This record gives sequence, C-alpha cells and structure tokens, in this order.
Amino acid sequence: MRSCFDVRFYDLDLEIKPKSKSISGTVEIKFEVVTPTKRIQLELASELVIHKIGDDHNRELNFVRRSKAIIIDLNEMYESGAILSVFVTYSGKPQIAKNPPWKGGFVCKNSNGNPFMGVACEDDGASIWWPLKDHISDKPDSVRIACTIPKGLFCVSNGKLIEQKIINDDCEKFIWQTSYPVNTYNITFYIGDYRHFQLPYKSKYGEHQLDFYVLPKNLEKAKNHFKQCADVIRVYEELFGEYPWWKDGYKMVESPFAGMEHQSAIAYGNGFKNNKWLQFDYIIVHETAHEWWGNKITVCDMADLWIHEGFATYSEALFVEKMGYSYGYGGMIYGNRFYCKNKMPVVGPSGVSYINSDDGDIYSKGSMTLHSLRYTIDNDTIFFNILYRFATEYGDNCVTTSDFVNLVNEATGEDYSRLFNQFLYRREAPELVYRFKYISEKESAFMFKWNDKNTNDDFKLPLYLYANNEKIKFVASNKIQEIRFQKNSKFSVFIEGKQLVILTLNPDLKSAR
Ligand SMILES: [Zn+2]
Repeated sequence: MRSCFDVRFYDLDLEIKPKSKSISGTVEIKFEVVTPTKRIQLELASELVIHKIGDDHNRELNFVRRSKAIIIDLNEMYESGAILSVFVTYSGKPQIAKNPPWKGGFVCKNSNGNPFMGVACEDDGASIWWPLKDHISDKPDSVRIACTIPKGLFCVSNGKLIEQKIINDDCEKFIWQTSYPVNTYNITFYIGDYRHFQLPYKSKYGEHQLDFYVLPKNLEKAKNHFKQCADVIRVYEELFGEYPWWKDGYKMVESPFAGMEHQSAIAYGNGFKNNKWLQFDYIIVHETAHEWWGNKITVCDMADLWIHEGFATYSEALFVEKMGYSYGYGGMIYGNRFYCKNKMPVVGPSGVSYINSDDGDIYSKGSMTLHSLRYTIDNDTIFFNILYRFATEYGDNCVTTSDFVNLVNEATGEDYSRLFNQFLYRREAPELVYRFKYISEKESAFMFKWNDKNTNDDFKLPLYLYANNEKIKFVASNKIQEIRFQKNSKFSVFIEGKQLVILTLNPDLKSAR
C-alpha cells in the first residue's frame, strides 16, 4: 500500500499557533499510481486528529487509522499511470522535541517576548507534524508550504517566498515553494521576529545572493559570522559540482536548536562562534555539505544513513584541507577516530525502518571509511573523481551503499568490497596484532597479521611503519608476515596511527588466533 504510489507534489496549507504549540490545516498529496490499487497508506502521528479526507472530485474518502498509519479507501480501482490527489484536513498539538534535532518535534522558545519556533524530524519522520507518505525513498517533485502565523512575525520555509498576505487583523500568511524534489524530513518552517540580509557569492558556476534570517539581537554578529558560508559553498562546488538548489536559493535561518540540513533553508543555532581550536563553524560546514550529501544524494533506506552523515562529516575534513587551515585534514580525521564506538555495524538491516544515529558511528566511522578508501586507492585524482561522480550522476534516484561500492569498483578497476564490508558491515574495528622479534645484534623483525576475529579475510588496508626514519608501506593479511630491518644506534620504530585500526602488541604472535 506504500509502494503502489509515487508522490509528485505536497501542498501544505497550515496555520501554526506558537502560543498553544498547535497546528491545523489541509495537506494535498498528489501522486501517481504505480501498480493498480484501490487503497493507499499515509502516515500521521496518532495524537493528531483527522477531520476529513477527500479526493479531487470533492468526495469524502473512508479511512482507518492503525497507530500512525492511515489506510485510505480511494472509492475505486485506479490503474497504473493515474494521477490523483487526496486532501487530509487535520489539527492538534505535535510532539515537543525532547532533544532536537535528534529527538524531534516542535521546538518552541521565546526571544525578547516573541515566539521563536521551528521543527526537527530527521529521525522521527515528518509524520510527527503533517500527513504524508513517510518514507525516505519517495521525494515529491516539489512542495508548497503555506503557513498562517500571528501577524508581526515572519515565517521562513524551503524554496522561494512566492506570496505574503495579510489574512485578518491577527494573522499573516507566507507561501513558499520549491522548484526541486525535497526529502520530506527536510520540509520545515521557522517562525520568529526575523531580520533578513544577503551576502554576495561568486564561483565558476555564477553569481548569487545568499540569504540569511536571524533574530534582531544577532544581526550584526551574523553579518560577519556568515561570511564563511561563501567559502564553504565554493569548496563544495569545486569538489562535488554546482550547488544543487540555486533556483531555491541558499538560506541560513537562525533556529531554536543547533542545526539541521533543511533543504535550501538550513537551521543554524550554534551561537555565531567558531569552534574552539578551529577557524570555522562546524554547523555551517556540516549542514551545508548535506545539500549534496543527504538532500541531493538521498538514501533509499535509513539503514544506509551513513551516506548522509559520513559524507557530510568527511566533507568537513575536506573543507579544512582545501582551505589550508592549521587544524588540518589529519587533525579532523584523527578527531573522528575518537568518536568511533564500534558497537553496531554502520549499515543496518534494510526494509525494516532501521535507523541508528544514537552512537554516532554513521558520522565518525562513515567519515573514516571514506578516509580509508582514499588512503587505500592512494590516488587523489581517482578518489575525488569518484566523489564528484557520486554527487553529480546519482541525484535522480535514491541511492544505496551498493551503488557507491559499485562506482568505486568500476572507477578503480579493483574490488573494494572487503574494505567496505570491514568498516560498514562489521561491528568491530580491524585489529592488527604485532610483535618485534630479536634476530641478531644487527637485525630485528616486525611480525604482523590481522586478528581474524575482528577482521575480514583478505582485508587490504595499507599501513605505514617508520623504522630509522624510513617509511615502509605494509599490507597485513590473516597470515603472519614479517619485515626485517637493520638496527642502528638511533633505532626507533612506530606505526602511523590515523587509521581506524586497533594496534595490539602481542609478544607471542603465534598464539594470537
Ligand atoms: Zn548531519
């Protein structure tokens, strides 16, 4: 009942009351029938009340609700290719976010006596606040969001503001529309006493104005702080191709929570300060990366969410590298390493609404997977071409981890499946067991192998050993290997440690099985 139709367009016509934290209105769901059907399923949080569901002939449709599912009887059988709309009129108080943006819902604050409000629903799904086909694989071709809010406040949403009109003495309506497909968890609104300003942007793709909406108290700070957005977009356009949504613009909107990649209207709530030790604001750098990774390139199943978060996290390191910042690429990657918990595989089971953003490995280990791939390919032209091709050739459909692995294999002419299997599908980090063996006064041996309990057979990740200031590349396997070197008076040896590899010194390597 969910795969039988493909959503084309959502038209949200909503009134949002910040005082009572409530919502009411009608959502049109326009869709194409993919396989003949008499019924469709939508989703809406069970605490929200449905007043009526109708079709485009103004007929009322029967429906039943089971938890958040709404099963709608379309009154007749529709054949493949039919295009029709259903209209859901509803109201209620959506859940309040417990820990936005991760534990989502409405986020309601006050600023100088004015409401300051938004919504976050990446993990929970958009059905916590409006009725839709709540599945990541089905993006509408575009969306219109009309928000009626108390007069005197401003509402920002995705796309372009196409109309703003006074409804009565108390209310004003803001109508926004996108020109592109949008992830449903990215469809959003912000309500506040906003001030708007623009900053110029220029790259090889053209010139644009970037838009910013902030609270009055932060206007001056923001004008300075958001200058870095132009650098961020420029670096990403170089790496991943043109910013995907110029017709909708690039907006950064002050939000009552830290951040979220809401397409063309990014949520920003990080205090207008760069991070300690860093020369940039990671919320800007991370969320802007999502315009390519997550918003343009979107997974078919949330089990593959590392493609959104791991790529966005790795993009932070690439931004730092391209800008030549002192806390460089290596520092960022080394930082990722400390957030890898290795409790669960990065990629979860598909087809069961699996989502795991709790332990953070989709961010940090996802990023380290891309770093390890770069390190193993050992050819930046090939590696960056893979990222560029993934960003520019795969945007029309949703993607899976296999799509990326197949692209890597095709572009390199080699089989990298085992590297991905190790980092994405196995829980444990690869473990190198090693020992140093006395051979003679003048000669020593370094013995090593993967611990096959933690590591795939034939997992090939090059590592580097420094002996007497000489860099020696070695590739471990599940069999013991050794490298011999001459000892001199300044003899020292260590293994380079930026990879996600556990190094275990085992004096009795032969028993380490
Ligand atoms: Zn993210």
